Amino acid sequence: MLPLIVGNWKMNTDLCQGDALVLKLRELLKGADSAEVVIAPPFTSIHHLYHLLADSPIKLAGQNIHWEKNGAYTGEISGEMLASVGCKYVIIGHSERRQYFGETDETVNKKVFATLRHSLKPIVCVGESLQEREGRKTLKKIKTQVTQALAGLGSAVKDLTIAYEPVWAIGTGKTASPQQAEEVHNSIRELLFELFDAESAKEVRIIYGGSVKADNIDELMAEPNIDGALVGGASLKAEDFARIVKFQPR
Ligand code: PEP
Repeated sequence: MLPLIVGNWKMNTDLCQGDALVLKLRELLKGADSAEVVIAPPFTSIHHLYHLLADSPIKLAGQNIHWEKNGAYTGEISGEMLASVGCKYVIIGHSERRQYFGETDETVNKKVFATLRHSLKPIVCVGESLQEREGRKTLKKIKTQVTQALAGLGSAVKDLTIAYEPVWAIGTGKTASPQQAEEVHNSIRELLFELFDAESAKEVRIIYGGSVKADNIDELMAEPNIDGALVGGASLKAEDFARIVKFQPR
């Protein structure tokens, strides 16, 4: 499967800054075809960037979605809206949304279904806290999050990506070692084979996120079960993100 590299811009970049970043990226990534590349800008930039990316393979993602089609949900965004401005992917259950906006495994599950209903592809984030890692509860936590997020899915799971993002590694400069990440990715892969038919389970991409940088991507991508990366901070610098996309496993 083609690796997937996703840039999560979070609540950064106004229209002009987003414009400049994408123009640079488009140039730097010309001809780079060893990964599928997705960026998740703020909602306010998506439509504009869609036009800028018309002749580029770079795809767009929403950073959130509401499970309802439309209605009285002030401040929310629907799958229909995201699809209408050119999104192909949606990031769901990012730890910042779980921590600050009350996202739970149950709402993540509803959002996964809403995403697929609109022919968008979900990128579901899971990850343990530092306390859970130190208490040796990592694999149990990930198993619960994945099982609940994907409950009821069936073969539709093949269109889904799971992003393993240890909470202690996000925006902290601390990356999980390739071995730590691989252990969790491998356990997620095994769980997928338990929960779904083999044909669908093997299609699911499992990507790593948590302080991914130009200088650590190569060793992470050398692991057999790491199928790409979800990149926060480093996705805001075109040169760094381009180098991540052009990873060379070693
Ligand atoms: C993220 O936003 O999902 C993330 C992993 O951020 P950072 O790369 O900055 O740690």
